[in-house]
Amino acid sequence: MESQVLHIENLTVRAEEKEILHGVSLDIGKGETHVLMGPNGAGKSTLGCALMGDPAYEAAGTVLFRGKELLSESPDKRAKEGLFLSFQNPLEVPGISLSNFIRSALEARTGRRIRLWDFRREMKKAMEVLKMDESYADRDLNVGFSGGEKKKAEILQLLMLKPSLAILDETDSGLDVDAVRTVSRGVEEYQKDKNGSLLIITHSTRILESLHVDATHVLVDGRIVASGGRSLVDEINAHGFERFLQAERSGL
Ligand code: ADP
Ligand code: MG
Repeated sequence: MESQVLHIENLTVRAEEKEILHGVSLDIGKGETHVLMGPNGAGKSTLGCALMGDPAYEAAGTVLFRGKELLSESPDKRAKEGLFLSFQNPLEVPGISLSNFIRSALEARTGRRIRLWDFRREMKKAMEVLKMDESYADRDLNVGFSGGEKKKAEILQLLMLKPSLAILDETDSGLDVDAVRTVSRGVEEYQKDKNGSLLIITHSTRILESLHVDATHVLVDGRIVASGGRSLVDEINAHGFERFLQAERSGL
């Protein structure tokens, strides 16, 4: 289906012999924003890593990304096809500047050379949205960046690469109020495009305040135990995960 970006059916993921996700099914349409919540250790990051093709995770089941089977593709191919993951803990990469990193990724994705002048202009605009000082463009990727700057650098990649589906893994955690607002504005900018879909993994509603949300899912012990609208986020914020934990552990 053209409007379907991600179709996950009965996805099982193992790491080091341990099954972490036990048959997850999830559908995300074009331009939709889905929120994934769940207690620590539920398997949220595992889902993101498995979708990106992290070799530490062994995935089985059906995953179609833009209509094509995803699990047999290399991580590199998945990124080129327009899948993007903003890491919970972004890596520091000495020897490549933030600017060169994004430009190479963009060239790999589009398959054509991008003029430095055009690239720099686009990047300047995106950095302004994210209130990042321009000097960061020439600094080594994430090296010596603060936690907040690393998260902004992730959203900068999101704005520049314009993926078909972006998974944001706790992009708002550890950020001060102003930084969350700025990051959220960056995500809002990406949403405006309507072409890109989002899966936002978060514990807080702060990043969601100005964002449109189509669906919310609750992951407990490697299973999606509830799905609903935006109000589910508010319910979890008010009452925590207790009701879902009880239902899951009473042997459902
Ligand atoms: P969440 O992001 O929801 O907090 P994670 O996906 O990080 O949860 O982890 C889910 C469970 O899987 C945890 O018990 C964690 O220890 C385990 N796990 C995650 N990654 C690995 C790995 N690479 N090897 C072994 N166990 C892992
Ligand atoms: Mg996590």
